[in-house]
Amino acid sequence: MIKIARTLALLAVCLALPAATARAQREEARFDFYTRGPYREAVPRPQALTKFDVGDFHTNYATMERWLERLAASAADRVRVYDIGETNERRMQHVVAITAPENLRRIDEIKANMRRLADPRSTTPQEAGRITAATPVVVWLAYTIHGNESASFEAMMQVVYQLAASDEPATLDVLKNTLVLVNVCENPDGHERFVTWYNSVATGNPDPLAAEHREPWSVFGRYNRYRFDLNRDNMIASQVETRNMQRAYLEWNPQVSVDHHGQTAQFFFPPAALPVNPNLPPQQTTRWLAEFGRANAAQFDARQWDYYVRDVFDLFYPGYWDSWPALNGATAMTYETDGGGFKGLRWRRDDDTIVTFRSAIAKHFVASLSTVEVAARNRAARLQDFYDFRRTGMEEARKERAKRFVILPGRDPGRAAEIADALAHAGIEVGVASAGFRSSGAHNFTTPGAPGAARDFPAGAYVVDLAQPQKRLAKALLEPETEIDREFVREQLARLARNNRRGSGSEKEGYQFYDVTAWSLPLAFGVEAYWTEDAGAVATSPFARPAAPSATGDGLSPLAPQLPRVGGAVSGRASVAYLIPYERNGAASLVYRLLKENFKLAVATRPLTAGGRTWPRGTLVARLSRNPDSIHERVAALARETGVDVYGVNSGFAETGDTVVGSESVVSIRRPKIIVVADDPVSQTSYGWLWWTLDRHGVDFTPMSLANLRRANLDQYNVIIMPDGSAGGYFGSLGKPGVDNLRAWVQRGGTLVAIKGAAVFAALKDVNLTTSRLVGSDDDEQAGKPAAGADEDADKKATASPTPSPSPSPQETSREQTAASRRTRRGQTAPTATEQQREVADQTERLEGVPPDLPPIASPSSKPGRVPEAVPGAIFRATADRTSPLTFGYEDATVPVLIDSAYFFRPSKEGTNALVFVTEGKEPLRIAGFVWPDNTERLLKGTAHVIDEPTGRGHVVLFAEDPNFRGFWRSLTKMFFNSFLFQPTF
Ligand SMILES: [Zn+2]
Repeated sequence: MIKIARTLALLAVCLALPAATARAQREEARFDFYTRGPYREAVPRPQALTKFDVGDFHTNYATMERWLERLAASAADRVRVYDIGETNERRMQHVVAITAPENLRRIDEIKANMRRLADPRSTTPQEAGRITAATPVVVWLAYTIHGNESASFEAMMQVVYQLAASDEPATLDVLKNTLVLVNVCENPDGHERFVTWYNSVATGNPDPLAAEHREPWSVFGRYNRYRFDLNRDNMIASQVETRNMQRAYLEWNPQVSVDHHGQTAQFFFPPAALPVNPNLPPQQTTRWLAEFGRANAAQFDARQWDYYVRDVFDLFYPGYWDSWPALNGATAMTYETDGGGFKGLRWRRDDDTIVTFRSAIAKHFVASLSTVEVAARNRAARLQDFYDFRRTGMEEARKERAKRFVILPGRDPGRAAEIADALAHAGIEVGVASAGFRSSGAHNFTTPGAPGAARDFPAGAYVVDLAQPQKRLAKALLEPETEIDREFVREQLARLARNNRRGSGSEKEGYQFYDVTAWSLPLAFGVEAYWTEDAGAVATSPFARPAAPSATGDGLSPLAPQLPRVGGAVSGRASVAYLIPYERNGAASLVYRLLKENFKLAVATRPLTAGGRTWPRGTLVARLSRNPDSIHERVAALARETGVDVYGVNSGFAETGDTVVGSESVVSIRRPKIIVVADDPVSQTSYGWLWWTLDRHGVDFTPMSLANLRRANLDQYNVIIMPDGSAGGYFGSLGKPGVDNLRAWVQRGGTLVAIKGAAVFAALKDVNLTTSRLVGSDDDEQAGKPAAGADEDADKKATASPTPSPSPSPQETSREQTAASRRTRRGQTAPTATEQQREVADQTERLEGVPPDLPPIASPSSKPGRVPEAVPGAIFRATADRTSPLTFGYEDATVPVLIDSAYFFRPSKEGTNALVFVTEGKEPLRIAGFVWPDNTERLLKGTAHVIDEPTGRGHVVLFAEDPNFRGFWRSLTKMFFNSFLFQPTF
């Protein structure tokens, strides 16, 4: 009845008023944030400091901090603020503990109790029962991981105020039964970029085409300073914010965790979509997600707020801030609100209704409070399940086949140490073998499916036993492959089959992969590792983490985790030359830094004999005859800093071998002077990963927009790096004259390094910076013929490809996509997309700074079975050409690489194919992750992954995928450095 009356009233208003007012009527009702009192007078509302009402503007970080300080002072009986560490731009991150006064008085005891629950080895079930009977449940509420998802930030202040100030009985009950930890802002630097920009342009215009709904490339607050997506970074916590948050999180061992985002079409809360990481206990996970979901639903239904569950947001990749807490034992959830952020103060939906910033804040506020209420009601049961999660994990470990992981330091002990460090930081126990040991059933990560074999491991190997409280997280991060739900896989293959039956003009169904399907840390780092079926006693000492980084550093250098330094000694003062073996990733940094200080270096292009040993090609030589005396001191200092062992030699003579220190095949190298293309159409994350990687290795570069690149005197530089980005965008921005200038510069001796989408650009027929072409593109001459080495029969079986085009859009996607946009998540915008889909696709692509409406690179319909399906992040075995300078430092025949696209490159006809996909016999190319049957491996075979195309006196180097992926893909770091350290020389 009430509903009908309301509708009639609304209708009357609509008929009586002009159109503009009628539209305003379709905004959601103005939410009142202050109905759950009485409120304690002394505690300041956020508005007392901001001076504007909720949702009228955006609150900047410093104002929030001033308010928080006053709130904490006036509500000291309930509130305690913890500083958890600084960001790159020196903003302090805070966690606010809020609970009842009697809990706050024993907060350290509560923390200790949580630690006891988290370790079932020392806590018996009886003791656990005593703790769960008398301890509040710990709820972690985290806000604004994506700095431009602005409703999250404002909602946080309202939630903190409600809990700190309200004397409402329901709120008091929550405080009694919970300890709420509010992580006030996960990404302060990104938040501040966004709100400063948005406040300065906001008019409140709801037109999606209004300028205020399109963030400039250089603002893009989604990411942190280094343009990392912090909601992918839990793999190794490469970013300082992630380190701060993981450290704080693990101090408290929460049982419930929510990460607040925005902006989907409607609000999202769990249950999560498939696939769910199988290292989570299925029943417990499902039960609790449904419990919290149902409670949110009741609140939303009562207010007629739209929402959805499952559908898009999965729980598979362990780097998110829901899967990672879940793997630590919490019931962990992602909430996505529907306004704010790019939708600004007001946004017109596709049905002309308006979503306001304020209403988006209100939805997060209501969902947050519902969550703490459900946690309070289920306090004891949730605590008990947290204990059981850790206990059953250990029990499973004793029964499951894989009982232990062993990681070998190998030739680059720094890389293995970094894995150990990331694991230890995440609360995983890592041992260092103090003596050699033997396993009777060891499985190498790079040969999936091979039977286990007896194997001896050396002292110094890292040992991760799975019978430990963090078993589930350890296994999820390390295991070579994580099984994907069968039901999910079946659905994707069914979609493929349906797509194959559709005509060329018909829109294809999208696939539901949300992120990469393989990520195992040893494979990503290119480090030798094994899982073993046995876990016999091994003498180990615990891995000792290096000291935390100091915040007193130099300017804005990365507050990156201190690298575990392994080695870094100089064998003795040289009288003829210093030799720098080029095996460790740190060596690339050492070489660059010596060049930067104007020391003269040369590189051995063949195996070198010196000091009574043979050194692999790629070994660097610093001849004393060419360098000042200061080299002794600088080599010693920089070797220590970069963790590289350096050897002094005292004679150039060798009894054997034809390459010695003075040989002509020891070639002088030049200091690289580097431009990195910044601004549109460059992928924000690709640029950011590069920025971070170069910064932490001490490499200087000039970021330059394409507009300036066209004007610049390029001859002052010898390297130009084009990060991943839209191929069409690169072409559109440079134009034919820009491309010709670039080519002329390369011919004069420049080195152009093109990554992923930029490599696609270089391989366009009209650009022709390489003789390689993209497999299945219109320019691909071989598309009509069977692929090199392809199986004829398989080829015949292939039918029409469902991939609309190997699209110009890069890979990294937002987690805020609606079901509709999913079909465009890898940029596969079909020409028949509806207006709404285009709008969403636009927003989605915008997230990576890619302009929409780019011409397709291929029209695959004409080449059935010849176009690769986009691979959703899987790991493959690439084979190195160990005569190319690009593979200096790669002494193994194969390298594990990630493929996260449909970009397969034909080998260069005139250059060197430094990394290729070849197989001998039936050995598969795939190591781990999802591949499309009768497509991926067939089309990948015979293609090249890294190409060196000599052009005049210079080079064009192509990387098919991003060698700096998310800062944790390290197997190609050195090859990336090789592209600019050595190419200018050869
Ligand atoms: Zn988000």
